[in-house]
Amino acid sequence: MSVTERLLPVHAPMLQFPTQGGELLVGGEKLSLLAARVGQTPFYAYDRALLQARVAELRAVLPPTVKLHYAMKANPMPAVVGWMAGLVDGVDVASAGELAVALDAGASAAEISFAGPGKRDVELRQAVAARVLINVESFREVAVLAAAATELGLPARVAVRVNPDFELKGSGMKMGGGPKQFGVDVEQIPELLALIGRAGLAFEGFHLFAGSQNLRPESICEAQQKSYELALRLAAHAPAPVRFLNLGGGFGIPYFPGEQRLDLTTIGENLRQLAERARQDLPQASLVIELGRYLVGEAGVYVCRVIDRKISRGQVYLVADGGLHHHLSASGNFGQVVRKNYPVTIGNRLDAQEHETASVVGPLCTPLDLLADRMSLPVAQVGDLVVVFQSGAYGASASPQAFLGHPRCLEVLV
Ligand SMILES: *Cc1c(COP(=O)(O)O)cnc(C)c1O
Repeated sequence: MSVTERLLPVHAPMLQFPTQGGELLVGGEKLSLLAARVGQTPFYAYDRALLQARVAELRAVLPPTVKLHYAMKANPMPAVVGWMAGLVDGVDVASAGELAVALDAGASAAEISFAGPGKRDVELRQAVAARVLINVESFREVAVLAAAATELGLPARVAVRVNPDFELKGSGMKMGGGPKQFGVDVEQIPELLALIGRAGLAFEGFHLFAGSQNLRPESICEAQQKSYELALRLAAHAPAPVRFLNLGGGFGIPYFPGEQRLDLTTIGENLRQLAERARQDLPQASLVIELGRYLVGEAGVYVCRVIDRKISRGQVYLVADGGLHHHLSASGNFGQVVRKNYPVTIGNRLDAQEHETASVVGPLCTPLDLLADRMSLPVAQVGDLVVVFQSGAYGASASPQAFLGHPRCLEVLV
């Protein structure tokens, strides 16, 4: 090995899935048999036991009074939402469509919250009728909610989504701080709270969400602390006591070479201190964290089959039956600035002696349809199963499945 090779960053090991006889086990089943059961490739498979283990791991470090919510946009498969609803304390939805899935899944309306920068009038009315908590993100929403509440004869339960005056440092996607379409700027919150009071809405708390995919515990702790301080200042203007203080989430998972799993120790300790302070400062309030990707991302794989093997000017291409149209994130076209490889392997050749440098491409007529760019992989043949790890979040529902008219992928919870 040369010096540069040794210094090259590598993917964090994907040990969450055991192996047997050179095959990955997903939901305890050999991958080839799971593919046979599903009846087609490509498919996503999500492992129930891993979802459960992840929640348990979080509960072990979080203070018992902090509520754990699942942000279902990360994975809205109804079976997954149903499974998660039984494990977490609440579900966060971002549309009336997601709200319907959450309610069907048996999530308790009292513990559902609804956020999103563009809630249509009808969606706000549906949310009032469903008696869920609505994270208000504009002055217009207050007026629409007041009208819906009067018409339906129900309270409009609201929290205020604050666009803070700070950012979550080192986030893959920033969703707070500076000018943003999300929430209402902190400077305007006192005015918004006064309007909520006059409109007779049922004020219940604050929601702050600064960013996503963060792997730096110190940044997450800092954002949580600042969010807490900010909410405390704003609470002085609130028309009713704070019952929910949603501090956001942003916990990331390792996707790319060099990234490490997030250490939860300091985050848990920080939340314990904040929960302790909240008992004094906001005695009626529950602290909430809302996580999407961190809960489901590592529990899922995307599986597609090699349908051709080509060598072009010395470079090996494994052409698969799946790609960008099912898994936009892994292709690098969902918010990545510089394309990097997700962890990928050949799921039925894990004990292969021989490895080669190969690219995995999909069937679409675009060079963007790339699942692995010149990675070291077990030598693969037509019929083998390509596995993309870290695929439980922002996969099927975040991909342009109709693009180019190939078959849709399936999803299974095993
Ligand atoms: C997308 C989103 C989440 C989930 O983000 P993850 O990075 O998947 O944890 C949580 N809250 C809000 C308001 C969101 O928009």
